[in-house]
Amino acid sequence: MAANKMMQFVSVPQRMPEKRPAAARKTDFAEIYARFTPDRAAEQASRCEQCGIPFCQVHCPVHHHIPEWLRLTAEGRLEEAYEIVAGSNNLPEMCGRICPQDRLCEGNCVLEQSGHGTVTIGTVERYITDTAFDMGWIKPVRPLQERAESVGIIGAGPAGLACAEQLRKHGYQVHVYDRYDRVGGLLIYGIPGFKLEKHVVERRTQHFRDSGVQFHLGADVGGRSGPSFAELRARHDALFIATGVYRARDLAAPGSGLAGIVPALAYLTASNRKTLGDDVPAFDDGTLNAAGKHVVVIGGGDTAMDCVRTAVRQGAKSVKCLYRRDRANMPGSMREVAHAEEEGVEFVWLSAPEAFLGDGKVETVRVHRMRLGAPDASGRQAPEIVPGSSFRLEADLVIKALGFDPEPIPAMFGEPGLKVSRWGTITIDWSSMMTSLPGVFAGGDIVRGASLVVWGIRDGRDAAEGIHAYLAAGRAARNAPQALALA
Ligand code: FAD
Ligand code: SF4
Ligand code: SF4
Repeated sequence: MAANKMMQFVSVPQRMPEKRPAAARKTDFAEIYARFTPDRAAEQASRCEQCGIPFCQVHCPVHHHIPEWLRLTAEGRLEEAYEIVAGSNNLPEMCGRICPQDRLCEGNCVLEQSGHGTVTIGTVERYITDTAFDMGWIKPVRPLQERAESVGIIGAGPAGLACAEQLRKHGYQVHVYDRYDRVGGLLIYGIPGFKLEKHVVERRTQHFRDSGVQFHLGADVGGRSGPSFAELRARHDALFIATGVYRARDLAAPGSGLAGIVPALAYLTASNRKTLGDDVPAFDDGTLNAAGKHVVVIGGGDTAMDCVRTAVRQGAKSVKCLYRRDRANMPGSMREVAHAEEEGVEFVWLSAPEAFLGDGKVETVRVHRMRLGAPDASGRQAPEIVPGSSFRLEADLVIKALGFDPEPIPAMFGEPGLKVSRWGTITIDWSSMMTSLPGVFAGGDIVRGASLVVWGIRDGRDAAEGIHAYLAAGRAARNAPQALALA
């Protein structure tokens, strides 16, 4: 009987929840999609074909049991659906909102491949989890057994948070250290509210606090305001490094030191802090505020998309995005480009800054036209300058969104024995998630380089299992002499 509710894709077309019109959403930082109604969620979930080999699940980094929770949603059994969702994801309401589903679960759904249009998996995941919060189904973690051993986690982003909750389930005492004053990493200060409203992050943070995770905020490990790495190693039985990547790549073009040229993360953080009600002098004095300005954003990834759409909401006069490749070769999500275009952003494809001009403060960007040349070592066509193609764009604010590299972690932590790759990411043994230092584990962006929230969650979960196995082995070794003596 359950099967009757499923496989409705032939008669039920794909439908997303209501999307607010661009004119309305441009005026605030609220999310752009409404939540599914119960009937719509059940209807959309019922489109699933219940594949024997679900490619959606294969391509989901946390290997969610997607067909199962879609079936339960179609049957109206939402509490059970939530149990299954929560079994493999610590932040499902966030993944439902901000995973690039077109490249992961939904892009690999057989219905998408066969031209029927994917099941709207992310939106159903969000609906299930938001409903679970509203209904009070999400209970704090209460481990069967509290353990004396403690684990220190450096970084309260998705990787650190997923690891923290999994370790609490095993009964460990978990302490999370972060240099920010709020929990969430890029979820709270990087990603804007129109993709992920801040109360959603704060609601989940409260759940972690209620589950016994202890947060130490304003604690810059290895810096002036925090404990040293050596102190944390002495204080805890194991450590997990989940510090993300924060060294912004810079521009080499002449004039890039002019006032009015700002890094993307400083710009987005100021905007998010304003949304959260903080005092932000650099926003109030106009340095990090696009209101009334001609804005040029340089870059083609998710960060650039967030900057252009933030600038629109702040009331910029015009917003242009320069990217050196074309639309088909940009790293950002196509959905985000479409949203930005609807909101009035102009994309200047195949273009790169040649120089910034102005009297102390940027006024104009001189831009090269680019073309795609022969493929480079990575197989991607390398952009090259079209000779004599320069043109000028008016700009009072230029935002650099060129990507992020790792900070020099071994030097910052005073631990030269911590092995890193030639790109500065921490090297780990993927089978245990342990670094070159015994009892020190790592995951998320600091291991992968700039990646995705859902991969951070996956790493945090895998690291929690690695840490549990490591600590269990230590307990077994300590107990072995006693066991021998008793025998
Ligand atoms: P982070 O989220 O960066 O968290 C690291 C934490 O460590 C931070 O809180 C930081 O303060 C703390 N920290 C760093 N050093 C120290 C130290 N020395 N001592 C104490 N604390 C420290 N991904 C998606 O899936 N979808 C999106 O739509 C998306 N949009 C993005 C938009 C922007 C603007 C950016 C920048 C990234 C976006 N990403 C997106 C990527 C995603 O946010 C990251 O991949 C993810 O947050 C990585 O998680 P993490 O836990 O490894 O690191
Ligand atoms: Fe899709 Fe992300 Fe949810 Fe996995 S976690 S099912 S990739 S939205
Ligand atoms: Fe359902 Fe699509 Fe996954 Fe198949 S691939 S189980 S149709 S969501």
